Amino acid sequence: MSKHAQERVFVAGHRGMVGSAIVRALRKQAGCQLILRSHEELDLTQESQVQDFFAEQAIGTVYLAAARVGGIYANQHYPAEFIRQNLQIESNVIHCAWKHRMQKLLFLGSSCIYPRAAPQPIREEYLLGGPLEATNEAYAIAKIAGIKLCESYNRQYGTDFRSIMPTNLYGPGDNFHKEDSHVLPGLIRRFHDAQVTQASEVMIWGSGQPLREFLYVDDMASACLHLMRQSRETLAKLTAPQCSHLNAGSGEEIRIAMLALLIAEITGYEGHIAFDNSKPDGTPRKLLDSSRLRSLGWSPRMPLREGIRLTVQHFMALQSSTPLANAADTAHASAATRTEPLALRV
Ligand code: NDP
Repeated sequence: MSKHAQERVFVAGHRGMVGSAIVRALRKQAGCQLILRSHEELDLTQESQVQDFFAEQAIGTVYLAAARVGGIYANQHYPAEFIRQNLQIESNVIHCAWKHRMQKLLFLGSSCIYPRAAPQPIREEYLLGGPLEATNEAYAIAKIAGIKLCESYNRQYGTDFRSIMPTNLYGPGDNFHKEDSHVLPGLIRRFHDAQVTQASEVMIWGSGQPLREFLYVDDMASACLHLMRQSRETLAKLTAPQCSHLNAGSGEEIRIAMLALLIAEITGYEGHIAFDNSKPDGTPRKLLDSSRLRSLGWSPRMPLREGIRLTVQHFMALQSSTPLANAADTAHASAATRTEPLALRV
């Protein structure tokens, strides 16, 4: 029987991409009792609601996958909401987890916590070693605060709050919004739309040369559960009280241009792919060093091609279940034979 047996496990953000993958993984474990609340049922930015919820529920473990998340557009336009809401969510959940003597908590951060010019591959100890990427600084600061909240409660109160920093994630449940998605789901959307509208060309911002790492969301969920299964003693040997977070990445890099070709092939788009070199590339390379997590016996399973195929399948299912929304979204693209340049967070 698993360590989660008889445990009441709260997955915060269970309707999101990562939270729903954690739920899928936990459902495969015997004896795990899941406690789930939608945003509407429990607003985690509201301390009194979080207090009441934790007081009523005898929760043993928390996976904190709820966050205000968005692409470059949202991060640039709503930095105040990004920093405030994420600080509120983390602060409320982590504080209440301590107050109600929860056994374990896992906080999900992001690779954007690392300095913009961090050496590659990025090791955990590079945190706070230099300036952050300006476009998502507010979000990154909130995520760094989440790690430091966990560490501070651990140091002062002896709690067992852990943190994991994923690389770029993708998979079912992703955000395929036309203007505000991450690069991989954004490309799926773009090539699908171009294929449907028979566009002759898809133009992508930048040179296509930056290297990026991607991890399938179910591999991320398995990393989360794997980390939570480790004993405190094992983790103490691998981490430090003030550098307790672990990176989670696939370790495989792909150029954006190659990724575009792969997605074009999988979506069936046969037109031309162009790159707009006058537009910024972002950082040339972003690769996490996940050797610490791997030394605990975790490794990702999903090959990129197969992961993209499954994600496209999921996207297609969404498209067919919301034909009107899709038609509205793609209406302006069908008027032209050339799609708008793609500006995505890479
Ligand atoms: P999603 O946007 O898919 O999911 C976030 C979830 O949080 C949603 O279910 C959302 O509910 C919920 N939520 C947001 N605000 C509140 C609130 N005030 N109260 C209760 N619930 C709330 O994000 P992801 O699953 O992609 O991300 C999850 C975590 O993983 C985040 O911490 C993110 O930083 C991290 N991560 C994600 C990466 C990625 O590539 N996607 C990469 C690296 C890290 P609702 O939609 O109803 O508001």
